[in-house]
Amino acid sequence: MDKQYDIIIIGSGLGGLQCGVILSRKGYKVLVLEKNKQIGGSLQTFKRNGCTFSTGIHYIGSLDEGQTLNKIFKYFKLFDGIEYKRLNSDGFDIFNIDGTEYHFPIGFSNFKKQMYDYFPSEKDAIDKYVAEIKNTVNNQDIYLLKNAENGSSAIGKHLSMNAWDYINSITKNTRLQQVLSALNFVYAGVKEKSPFYIHALINNHFITSSYRIVGNTGLIAKKLKDEIIENGGDVHTNKKVVNLVINNNKISSVETKDHNKYFANNIISDVHPATTMDMIGEGLIKKSFRKRMKNKENTMSAFGVHISLKKNSLKYINANYNYYKRDDVWYASYYDEKLWPEHYFLHCGIPEKESEYTNCIGLLTHMKFEEVARWEELPVNKRGDDYEEFKNKKAKMLIELATKNFPQLRNNIVGFNVSTPLTYRDYLGTPMGSLYGTLHNFKNPADSYISPRTKISNLFFTGQNINLHGMLGVSVSSILTCGEFVGVNKILKEINGQA
Ligand SMILES: Cc1cc2nc3c(=O)[nH]c(=O)nc-3n(C[C@H](O)[C@H](O)[C@H](O)COP(=O)(O)OP(=O)(O)OC[C@H]3O[C@@H](n4cnc5c(N)ncnc54)[C@H](O)[C@@H]3O)c2cc1C
Repeated sequence: MDKQYDIIIIGSGLGGLQCGVILSRKGYKVLVLEKNKQIGGSLQTFKRNGCTFSTGIHYIGSLDEGQTLNKIFKYFKLFDGIEYKRLNSDGFDIFNIDGTEYHFPIGFSNFKKQMYDYFPSEKDAIDKYVAEIKNTVNNQDIYLLKNAENGSSAIGKHLSMNAWDYINSITKNTRLQQVLSALNFVYAGVKEKSPFYIHALINNHFITSSYRIVGNTGLIAKKLKDEIIENGGDVHTNKKVVNLVINNNKISSVETKDHNKYFANNIISDVHPATTMDMIGEGLIKKSFRKRMKNKENTMSAFGVHISLKKNSLKYINANYNYYKRDDVWYASYYDEKLWPEHYFLHCGIPEKESEYTNCIGLLTHMKFEEVARWEELPVNKRGDDYEEFKNKKAKMLIELATKNFPQLRNNIVGFNVSTPLTYRDYLGTPMGSLYGTLHNFKNPADSYISPRTKISNLFFTGQNINLHGMLGVSVSSILTCGEFVGVNKILKEINGQA
């Protein structure tokens, strides 16, 4: 076996695969090593009771012609053979806050009109808010795919502005404050910490247009993998990287759990930086760097239930439905184990053959790792009856909460499958099953960014922890990481069709 490569990529999440495509197109011989049986990380799918569930990407934004992700998807050929369904223009996300529903329409002019309708006396605040979102996004060149000499963004004050503080500063209307904050679950927002620029990027991403992937997210992983292989690269699964062999501050080889050794000039890790540090022996990387990576605060983990329904029992909803029991949408900030669950995010599988009904839905909410910590040392599928009981009990509680708004769920569930913080930890390699990796804190903006470069000369980071999570954030991270090899502006020109 030829084990010498130009670049080894650890982890086949979206970021690892995108880097594999970019670099293999440029003639680098690339190897992707994935610890799981299945590629994709959060793009992984699984089948149960007649449903194929996507585990980690339920919807994506800015996919209309000319928008950021649309250009990125064209560049990665992700429109070839994969379809996307645009969510409802008059409400891609529905927020039920303490019993009252609010719709987020697609497009900022529609969004404003809808907000004026809900809050007629708050026009000035709404205008100000939308202008600030646009202003913040317009200052982040890389998210607009504008050429930036070193890929960094000049966003100045926005980095150190708290989202909740800003929203409070523009209106005294407590319900409007909640509605404008409502999309924070998709960045695992924390009221006291989340910066406004993250809020702005995420809101802008989904409000400009929102789509679901038809079929499943595994199609994206497969498409990227196929191109890497076509370009002469390799993608190996069941290859957990356990050790980076380092001499003179340079990685000479990579060792996997099954005792294989692979050689490359450069290594890219698509794995959480703290987990990457575990692959490096004591004394082989600067202590302060290791400590900084290991001590990063991460977003709270999650609990998900994937449900198969009887045929024709629930009409397909072309939107996400978000429920908040309290008059407060910042669930991660007041999460209380004893009162759990007080929130859920419901998403539907797109029906086959034009049926009006969906057979497959998912419920997702936060859960702290501490609640499953007592089983953390036990292997998957061998955690015992008490773990199974815990999963069942919690799943039923979450389903019961959703049944209040969706009575169709009662007596129509064929089966369900549960993901706990341990599932996310084990399948993604994120510390304590963190939902989106590192948490951004407006009080410490410099620490919110992780450079693709590390303290080891030929080790680079990519993926959701570099800049931002999600389809958008990870794609931008891939551009920044590969930019270290081929130049950020060169990649941006190609994405913009100028090369
Ligand atoms: C439940 C959930 C819902 C989400 N919903 C959305 C959404 O609706 N829209 C959106 O845009 N984003 C969403 N996200 C976020 C998005 O899915 C992620 O930000 C993104 O997919 C992360 O990609 P990544 O490349 O950083 O890494 P990951 O997907 O985390 O992949 C890392 C890979 O590295 C592998 N790995 C770990 N350790 C090793 C090792 N030692 N050796 C080899 N391989 C290793 C893992 O097995 C994994 O395959 C969601 C995430 C989750 C978890």
